Amino acid sequence: MQKFVYLFNEGNSDMKELLGGKGANLAEMTRIGLPVPYGFTISTQACNAYYETEKTIPTIVENQVLEALNILEEKMGKKLGDPENPLLVSVRSGAVFSMPGMMDTILNLGMNDETVEGVARLTNNARFAYDSYRRFIQMFSNVVLQIDGFYFEQFLEEIREEKGYTTDPELTAEDWQEVIAGYKEIVIKHTRKEFPQEPKEQLFLSINAVFDSWNNQRAIVYRRLNKIPGHLGTAVNIQSMVFGNMGNDSGTGVAFTRNPSTGESILYGEYLINAQGEDVVAGIRTPQPIATLKDEMPEVFKQFTATCDRLEQHYLDMQDIEFTVERGKLFILQTRTGKRTAQAAIQIAVDMVEAGIIDKKTALLRVDPDQLNQLLHRRIDDTFIRKQLAKGLPASPGAATGKVVFDADEAELLGNDGQKVILVRPETTPDDIHGIIAAQAVVTSRGGMTSHAAVVARGMGKACICGCEALKIDLKAKQFSIGETIVNYGDIITIDGSTGEIMLGEIPMIEPELSDEFQLLLSWADEVREIGVRANADNPTDAKKAFEFGAGGIGLCRTEHMFMDSTRIPIVQKMILADNFEDRMEALDQLLPMQQGDFEGIFEAMEGHPVTIRLLDPPLHEFLPDKEELLVEVTKLQILDPNSSELKKKEQLLKKVRQLDEFNPMLGHRGCRLGVIYPEIYEMQAKAIFYAAAKLADKGMEVKPEIMIPLVGHVNELKQMRQLVIDSGEKVKTETGIETEYTIGTMIEIPRAALTADQIAAEADFFSFGTNDLTQTTFGYSRDDAESKFLQAYIEQKVLPENPFAVLDQEGVGKLVEMGVKLGRQAKPGLKTGICGEHGGEKSSIEFCYKTGLDYVSCSPYRVPLARLAAAQATIRNVKN
Ligand code: ADP
Ligand code: MG
Ligand code: MG
Repeated sequence: MQKFVYLFNEGNSDMKELLGGKGANLAEMTRIGLPVPYGFTISTQACNAYYETEKTIPTIVENQVLEALNILEEKMGKKLGDPENPLLVSVRSGAVFSMPGMMDTILNLGMNDETVEGVARLTNNARFAYDSYRRFIQMFSNVVLQIDGFYFEQFLEEIREEKGYTTDPELTAEDWQEVIAGYKEIVIKHTRKEFPQEPKEQLFLSINAVFDSWNNQRAIVYRRLNKIPGHLGTAVNIQSMVFGNMGNDSGTGVAFTRNPSTGESILYGEYLINAQGEDVVAGIRTPQPIATLKDEMPEVFKQFTATCDRLEQHYLDMQDIEFTVERGKLFILQTRTGKRTAQAAIQIAVDMVEAGIIDKKTALLRVDPDQLNQLLHRRIDDTFIRKQLAKGLPASPGAATGKVVFDADEAELLGNDGQKVILVRPETTPDDIHGIIAAQAVVTSRGGMTSHAAVVARGMGKACICGCEALKIDLKAKQFSIGETIVNYGDIITIDGSTGEIMLGEIPMIEPELSDEFQLLLSWADEVREIGVRANADNPTDAKKAFEFGAGGIGLCRTEHMFMDSTRIPIVQKMILADNFEDRMEALDQLLPMQQGDFEGIFEAMEGHPVTIRLLDPPLHEFLPDKEELLVEVTKLQILDPNSSELKKKEQLLKKVRQLDEFNPMLGHRGCRLGVIYPEIYEMQAKAIFYAAAKLADKGMEVKPEIMIPLVGHVNELKQMRQLVIDSGEKVKTETGIETEYTIGTMIEIPRAALTADQIAAEADFFSFGTNDLTQTTFGYSRDDAESKFLQAYIEQKVLPENPFAVLDQEGVGKLVEMGVKLGRQAKPGLKTGICGEHGGEKSSIEFCYKTGLDYVSCSPYRVPLARLAAAQATIRNVKN
């Protein structure tokens, strides 16, 4: 018989897939003897069984739940629904991966009109009993019966007003009874049924609801965002209740064993006295920092810090812990590996290695390369004198500028339109996720460092400020005020999530630098990784940045960008417009020293590391004015100034533009096809490279140019261009008397090149897989058209798993890469291979490149640190013999 239900003493932390993260850790903590309220877990397999039987709980599962309940009742000496001595439980969802705020927990289940009296008698605290009962009705109605929480809050608000109270603790037992009566009426009004009184019915309805919530909208959105597969299912935890709302000797809180924002090794968290469960994260009351617990409950604090240490030692990682104190006694309700910012991830990994807790390889695997982007973002210029408008809690670091919006839908709308927005809310809930995704940053006026907004923003690496109480938000008027200042919807603000400051308008930002810890971690990555990392850089500034970030060379230097410069474009156009060879040569002679200067700068920046220079690639019309615009100008001149020389010039230009016009430029006259038809262009570029190399060699510098011929599809193209480069080299050598060492290779970006890689290898010293074009040509998609017209729909409809321009399509494009490497190396053992598409900066693609045996990946300078780490992780994960 299949086992669907596990008591807390039957599991352990390795059983996450079956028990979910929460369940597995509750079992583990029970196992090592921590004070965890007893209970049991219904497995993720039961969730899948539920969906297989058309959303009903199979009898076998039901029976096992009832059995486990019996054991729980015996152990606690209480019975669910027993008016004399009632057992109360919580029902908590828990998927394999923690999904913050995605699913709702029900507390105090087992409360009804009879048991509430029992609880009041037993605890000698009627107020507590009725408060707990009303909380249960409120939660259960919202989560299970799907009645909007607003009705309950509104009713409670009315009672508070009527009685002249401002906070909940002022309500008496009688007041809560009144609230309960009102709540029950709300339930009848919305469901046309009484609130369910039978505890077992309450229990099974709740289990159903947890399973259902696996497929609610916000869970689906979260899974999509975090690439969590939908078939995993969620587990359900049934746990006996402990109460933080029993008076001032009770409370509830959340704490991280280290600071999840900076990584500093100091207990970080918040708690509320006389409160239950979600009160801390809900942001309704702003909680107290954990440090003050030391004074308020010294014994509990001592025990708690000891438990935190124990948990960190046990899990060997920073933990995020939920606890409750019931009448001076500490209970642990949850532990999990804490989410953290990139900065904290690095700090913690490095600290733990230095403390001897983990080894370097483990540390390297602890930091998600994707997260590193956060650290490579710009931040506010320190020299700028800030005029602070208000200050809240620094809940997630980073700086952001954007238009103020007050609603998640609005944020999404503007965000998708490419606008930068900052979402400002009193507090956020899981229903705001899509808005947070679309926003640059989040600001809330309520809630602490562990509020929903803070947790979610840190997870996404977005700047966030919480609990900025000076902010008076008027959602209806779409504005907020701080003192005299009023900020309206659409106004621009800048926030600094590292300090909590909010400022008006846009503020100058500066480029990022790598911290010492970051550099240390990356140096460990370099020790481990068995694949090189280069950068794509077209100018000395980018090359310097790349070198600073640890690139081992330039994998792709595109020469066309050098032509686009405003002082050069007229000469480039002259070259293109030339009717005869002499005129063209004249223009090329003017361009040559400029190109030479570019190369000198790049060689210098790379200090002797190899530089792969690609000869001209785009079709020539890209350097000419737009046809339509030109036509308008010509037409205008024909009317206004028909005899002008200006008109003549423009007409000539138009004629050339028409000549060069192509039906499909992506597949047109470009790449080596230009070199074959206009060899003088490639010759000029090759010479510029050799002159630059010679000049630097003369200064005693080492230079390693690798000249790359683009878009080769047939070996003869390469053969011809190779000869041209060699001849140019000879000429420069004779002229300067300096011999440069160099190699000639090609980009593999046309399927035919991969298919005939053995022939091509005979003429090439290296291959560089241009996976952007190779993806275009393999799929037959032009990227711009695909991304603007159908790719999004393809991904939504699951026609494609991912955007193949962002994540390398290993099955198709990847197969061509593998074939290219294999055939190439068959013909020329040891042939150097690399990748220079954008994929070179994406972690799964980097892993693929490592497994395929490429010598290096090349990516944009800002992604170099990410690539170094991802390369190390790929090496650690795929041990080669
Ligand atoms: P989430 O995954 O949203 O954090 P949890 O299941 O952890 O949901 O529960 C929500 C809140 O209720 C937490 O503060 C938790 O500590 C509290 N809680 C859950 N179960 C119990 C229980 N048995 N006794 C007391 N508090 C509980
Ligand atoms: Mg929790
Ligand atoms: Mg290309």
